[in-house]
Amino acid sequence: MKISELFEQKQPVVSFEVFPPKPEAPFEVVLEAVEALHYLKPAFISVTYGAGGSSQNKTLELAQHIKEAYDIEALVHLTCITKSSEATEKILDEIQERGLENILALRGDQPKEWTGSVYKVHATDLVECISKRKKFFIAGAAYPEGHPEAASPQEDIQHLKEKVDAGVELLITQIAFDNDYLKRFRQSVEKAGITVPITAGIMPVFSAGQIAHISGLCGATLPPALVAILDKYSHNQDALQSAGIEYACRQINNLVEEGFAGIHIYTMNKPLLARAILSGTNLR
Ligand code: FAD
Repeated sequence: MKISELFEQKQPVVSFEVFPPKPEAPFEVVLEAVEALHYLKPAFISVTYGAGGSSQNKTLELAQHIKEAYDIEALVHLTCITKSSEATEKILDEIQERGLENILALRGDQPKEWTGSVYKVHATDLVECISKRKKFFIAGAAYPEGHPEAASPQEDIQHLKEKVDAGVELLITQIAFDNDYLKRFRQSVEKAGITVPITAGIMPVFSAGQIAHISGLCGATLPPALVAILDKYSHNQDALQSAGIEYACRQINNLVEEGFAGIHIYTMNKPLLARAILSGTNLR
């Protein structure tokens, strides 16, 4: 099934992100996490992809497992920055052979350890390549606070429009901890004439180290209310996790009231967090 059908049936569409194991880690641990997550009945599960290639086969294997074992649609993340067009075509063949129909088309970033070729591409190039096959539903990434490399917010939105015009049917946002960014972003997107659904990326905070790492990686702003939680519970891990989940629940309930088409939960392969969020919100 194409994920577009899910957005036509009922909104908000609740989805999860998981990541495949690192090459040295056992696959079973991730399979157990996915087993627990499937009981929460997400509409679809997206599976991340390493631009450097270390876990690429495991992405496809895990996505296929999700689809076949649980009858839940899988959204395969795919990056193009380290791929020649031949390599891209080859992996698209494999995705197709595995019966997977949904792709999150990404440029990706040059991995630190990468010594191979890096291609001067944008995600739009990958979208065009996937679109030609007329076989896949295509999602694209979007940045409520702007992509870190963008020359200006206006240019970023302009490039987003080009990506959508090339065939993207759904936008999944970068993690945002402040709904004001998400709301302003949606307004700018609509003003630019982009009409595809936007699903908001939400990550529950569960440790100070995690949040420093994540906000360093993606540049998401920590609003004062979240900083206060981090300060207050810096020495109490359990209390921090509960407060982090409550914060994410409030964020989600507000986004649902605001009519966001979807909520994408960055689960970090932690079913307990996803379960706590679903039971603390109006999503179910
Ligand atoms: P693009 O859409 O190409 O945008 C990147 C930058 O280029 C932006 O500043 C944009 O404005 C600019 N740009 C676009 N087109 C043009 C143009 N024609 N001319 C000039 N500038 C242009 N990374 C992974 O490696 N694996 C994953 O699984 C993964 N999953 C992700 C999931 C989500 C929901 C998100 C939001 C990000 C994810 N990423 C992942 C990170 C992503 O790969 C990086 O953020 C990367 O830097 C940009 O990818 P993109 O697809 O958004 O790129």
